Amino acid sequence: MKTKTPLKQLKLSVPAQETPITSFLTASGTFHDGDLMLNQKGMRLISEEKESRPSDAKDLDFDFTLDDLETVKVIGKGSGGVVQLVRHKWVGKLFALKAIPMNIQEDIRKQIVQELKINQASQCPHVVVCYHSFYNNGVISLVLEYMDRGSLVDVIRQVNTILEPYLAVVCKQVLQGLVYLHNERHVIHRDIKPSNLLVNHKGEVKITDFGVSAMLASTMGQRDTFVGTYNYMSPERISGSTYDYSCDIWSLGMVVLECAIGRFPYIQSEDQQAWPSFYELLQAIVESPPPSAPPDQFSPEFCSFVSSCIKKDPRERSTSLELLDHPFIKKFEDKDLDLGILVGGLEPPVNFPR
Ligand code: ATP
Ligand code: MG
Repeated sequence: MKTKTPLKQLKLSVPAQETPITSFLTASGTFHDGDLMLNQKGMRLISEEKESRPSDAKDLDFDFTLDDLETVKVIGKGSGGVVQLVRHKWVGKLFALKAIPMNIQEDIRKQIVQELKINQASQCPHVVVCYHSFYNNGVISLVLEYMDRGSLVDVIRQVNTILEPYLAVVCKQVLQGLVYLHNERHVIHRDIKPSNLLVNHKGEVKITDFGVSAMLASTMGQRDTFVGTYNYMSPERISGSTYDYSCDIWSLGMVVLECAIGRFPYIQSEDQQAWPSFYELLQAIVESPPPSAPPDQFSPEFCSFVSSCIKKDPRERSTSLELLDHPFIKKFEDKDLDLGILVGGLEPPVNFPR
C-alpha cells in the first residue's frame, strides 16, 4: 500500500500543445501539407479515412515506431513503471508513453499484445486512448493519449476538495466510461482510483489503465496478485472473494467521497499521522460500517449517491447505468457547468517522486 505523498508544490511548465495540423514546416524540419508529410526520414501519406475518425486519432493513421517519439520529460511513476511525456517527431503531437518492464515468456507476451490490441480499439470518449503498444527488450511500451492536467491526484493536491457541482460533472464522465467498459466491453476495470482518472485542459475526464493491473498480475504467474494500492478496493476483493463489475462502483464511491472531504475516507482526520497498515485497512473495509458523506456538510443527493456506491454487499450497489440517472448527477446536468474552468486554472501536473 502506498503512503500519501507530501503536499509540496513544485512548479514545472508543460510544453505548449502541438500546432494544429494544416500546413507547416516544424523546427525539426518536418513539412506537412494536407495528407503529405515530409522530413529527413522520407515521405509519408496519411489516409483520407482519418477525417471520419475521432479528432485525437485522425493524425495517426500511419504506423509509427518508438524511434518516432522524443522524450520531453518524465511525468509520473507508478508501481508498474514510468510514464513519460513524449512528442511525435513528425506531427509534433504529445503522448504519454508508459513503459512497463517485464521479462515474460513468449506465449504470455502474445496474450498481452492481443489484449492491448483490443484496448486500442476503444471507442469511448471517457476511456484514455491507447494508440500503440510495443514490446522491446523486456519492456512493454504503451503510447497513450496525453492528459495534460494529470490525474485526480494532481487536482485534489491543488484544490484540496472538489465542490459538489464539479464532482457531479467528474462523476458523470467516469460513469460514462464505466458503462462502456461494463456494458459494451464486458470488463471489470479492477483499479479505479484517483491516479487512474485523468483530466485534460478541456475538462474531460477519462479512465486509464484498464486491463493493466490484470495484465501485470497475469504476467507474474498469479492471476489474482494485485499490483498497486488496496485503498479503493471493495470488501469482497480485499478479502479474496469473487467479485464482479460492482467492485468498480465501490472504488468510484470511495474516490468521489475522498474528492469531497479532502482526505482518504478511512483516515479519521487531517492530523492522523500514519496511514493504516494493510491489515488495519483490511479490517476497516471488511468489518467496519462503510464510510459515508457527513449529511450536515453535503446535499442529500450527494450523500445518497455515495451510499449507493459504497455498500458492503456488492449486490446492493447500484450499477454504472443506474448511477448515471441518480438525482446527484441529474441535479447539475442542465447547469452548463464547465469542468474546464476548474482544471484550466490549475497548474499543470507536477512530477512528485513516489
Ligand atoms: P499504480 O502504478 O500504483 O497504479 P499510478 O496509476 O499512479 O499508480 P501509473 O499508471 O504508472 O501509476 O501513472 C503514473 C502517473 O503518470 C499518474 O499518476 C499520472 O499522473 C501520470 N499519467 C499516467 N498516464 C497518463 C496520461 N495518459 N497522461 C498524462 N499523465 C499520465
Ligand atoms: Mg495508473
